[in-house]
Amino acid sequence: MCGIVGYIGKREAYPILIKGLHRLEYRGYDSAGVAIISKEMRLNVLKAQGKVSDLENAAQGKDTCGSLGIAHTRWATHGIPSQVNAHPHLSQSGEITLVHNGIIENYATLRAQLLSKGYTFKSQTDTEVLVQLIEYIQKKHHINLTTAVRIALNKVIGAYAIVVIDSKEPDLLVVARKSSPLVIGVGEGNNEFFVGSDASPIAEYTKKMIYLKDDEVAELTRGEEVKITTLNNDKVDICIQNVEMDLGQLDKSGYAHFMLKEIFDQPDCITDCMRGRLLLEYKKIVLSAITDYRDRLLSAKRFIIVSCGTSWHAGLIGKQLIEEFCRIPVHVEYASEFRYRNPVIFSNDVVIAISQSGETADTLAAIELAKKHGAMVFGVVNAVGSSIARNTDTGIYTHVGPEIGVASTKAFTGQVTVLTLLASALAKEMNRIDDEYFTSIINELSAIPDKMRLVLQKNDEIEVLSKIFTYAHNFLYLGRGWNYPVALEGALKLKEISYIHAEGYPAAEMKHGPIALVDSEMPVVFIAPHHELYKKIISNMQEVKARNGNIIAIVTEGDTEVKQIAKTVIEIPNTLPCLTPLLTSIPLQLLAYHVAVQKGLNVDQPRNLAKSVTVE
Ligand code: GLU
Repeated sequence: MCGIVGYIGKREAYPILIKGLHRLEYRGYDSAGVAIISKEMRLNVLKAQGKVSDLENAAQGKDTCGSLGIAHTRWATHGIPSQVNAHPHLSQSGEITLVHNGIIENYATLRAQLLSKGYTFKSQTDTEVLVQLIEYIQKKHHINLTTAVRIALNKVIGAYAIVVIDSKEPDLLVVARKSSPLVIGVGEGNNEFFVGSDASPIAEYTKKMIYLKDDEVAELTRGEEVKITTLNNDKVDICIQNVEMDLGQLDKSGYAHFMLKEIFDQPDCITDCMRGRLLLEYKKIVLSAITDYRDRLLSAKRFIIVSCGTSWHAGLIGKQLIEEFCRIPVHVEYASEFRYRNPVIFSNDVVIAISQSGETADTLAAIELAKKHGAMVFGVVNAVGSSIARNTDTGIYTHVGPEIGVASTKAFTGQVTVLTLLASALAKEMNRIDDEYFTSIINELSAIPDKMRLVLQKNDEIEVLSKIFTYAHNFLYLGRGWNYPVALEGALKLKEISYIHAEGYPAAEMKHGPIALVDSEMPVVFIAPHHELYKKIISNMQEVKARNGNIIAIVTEGDTEVKQIAKTVIEIPNTLPCLTPLLTSIPLQLLAYHVAVQKGLNVDQPRNLAKSVTVE
């Protein structure tokens, strides 16, 4: 699930591996480790619980020389976060070592078999079973590392991206994947190779990348061409892609945290997202996915949106947009439930998969299921070249740049923007939206970045406000219509980074339960822009006020009514009701951010969370 870096070449591996691990820190992790084979064919393994900097401290004065190595940041699935459970894991003889992202589901059976053969285990991880299995097979059949890896992986059930090295074969890195991403960077003249769980640790050394596919094993040998085979040992044609990555986006640019930078980046990100798609001058929305798949999209009787977490909240907004503009039913599903529920999927359904990383394991599995039923799959993804981007029929990239903060911000507004473009363009093709409304959407969408800038000017005000609420143990977020999903997203942001329990609810539904929690201690955030349901939400606010709740309200500028009821109001500029989520979500991101900062928490890497959820 977490980070992998590998290097083989002529340079010292250690600095490349450590820098790569730092680049992957955004994914969230609990321990880190590195293994290097020295010139004398000695295998040195160093591991530390905590941060990559803890690993660097542990490595002070130790032998880290060598030009072949692997490194890992672990996000524990099996076994507590600890030094022993950190990767790389060593085989019994100490000759083979590997790093692994994912889960070996049948590890318990394999472990029992290996125990009966005399193998012992130091860690509680599923991963250690794999390295022992590789060694057992290698020694039993007297075969090379690659063949042993291939046979071992044929016995494994689960998900993995692995990099394996053997001190007996010091010119070779073996890598393999199934359901967990792995990228190979090809250096000059095949003299060096880089490996990463995504392109970020590789991008500064080479643009030439190979995205390994499921069930493929690659051999990276110094001075030789890359060799890729399947688990059945069939040769695979190699496809090298040129991948451009703006590493500048991986810096904080003077902001205290990536999350704050990414919140402030949103006006530019949304401009990038709409570039070449929203043509203001021509009053048109041009999406190549619609041009290329027009008939298929227009003949759809139903859309199903599959996603997880924040992307699921964007999906709820997408549902309202598509239903409102296109008059086609849309179901929004948690990918993790959908994939195991034997859902009804028709071959004329269009399944929209939303994922920032494009690697979300459950969403990928939901896509496979949809394909099996013959449905068309449409991706809304941020990470270019990611698994979801490659496994969908077509789609739209959000183009908001790498998101480093674990709590998603700009990816959310990017997804909502893409879904708005998609719903409006489809409705236009279907002749289901009147020209005036369509033009007003185009005009208002193009004004959104500037309006976002105005909302961001509230930052200081929200910072002051946040100081009041660090005491809170619970928060309630309430919204209706377009802003009900924003209430869910606001609550999720606060939970994720401040560890304060928060619930998002449809404002009227609050009477059926959560109102019992309301007292003078309870902060209640209302998202109440001046639109269709304004009067209704005012009534809900009165119900909370009658119980002494501490109301914070997001309102349209110039509002007078809410000001009479709420303790605090934050104003946003006016826009079309359907576009309000793009503005109302921003004060909630800032509120969560500042509360977490006030509490002295690690905003960019909150505990227990990972950026790219590549395990189910
Ligand atoms: N399942 C492995 C472990 O718990 C790998 C976790 C990861 O992907 O970081 O050690």
